[in-house]
Amino acid sequence: MIPSTASAFRLPAKGALLALLLVGALGGCGGGAEQEPLPCHGYGCEFDVQGAAGMRLRYAPAVEPSDARANVAFLEQLYQMVESCAGIQAPAPLVVIEKEGTLVSPLDGLQHHGLYYFDPDLMLIDDGAWTFWSLKHEAVHYLLQHALGNSDPDHTSSLFATCVELPFAMP
Ligand SMILES: [Zn+2]
Repeated sequence: MIPSTASAFRLPAKGALLALLLVGALGGCGGGAEQEPLPCHGYGCEFDVQGAAGMRLRYAPAVEPSDARANVAFLEQLYQMVESCAGIQAPAPLVVIEKEGTLVSPLDGLQHHGLYYFDPDLMLIDDGAWTFWSLKHEAVHYLLQHALGNSDPDHTSSLFATCVELPFAMP
């Protein structure tokens, strides 16, 4: 891996966790809002397809059904690669593909390539050049959250290096 590319996808994921922490805090507040926000952290919980391993994937309208990012079997393979590498198993999460540049953390106001929210679990991945690495990176946060109750926002776990940079073949 080229070092600059590695840092390019690590940076956004860090903000992702900050985003989820903010949402978690807001989620504890009572009602009173005139307009109900969409469930699943404002993104809605709908999905287009569910894979054999249980991953729910929403890819429309960001990408066409023929795009590799809409291939739930392929995304499940990547997820299971990380599961196996980490030695942690958890039900595959809801994954939503969004257009690059639209994933903005509510905390830092910056664009990110991937965001992970928990309770309920939601993995948001953009359709940019790093989609598949972003998916694996957020999968590490997700699996750590399930195993330890802490998604490791500071990336202290070595799994972020060892399990995200594993090579893979495109479908
Ligand atoms: Zn991260």
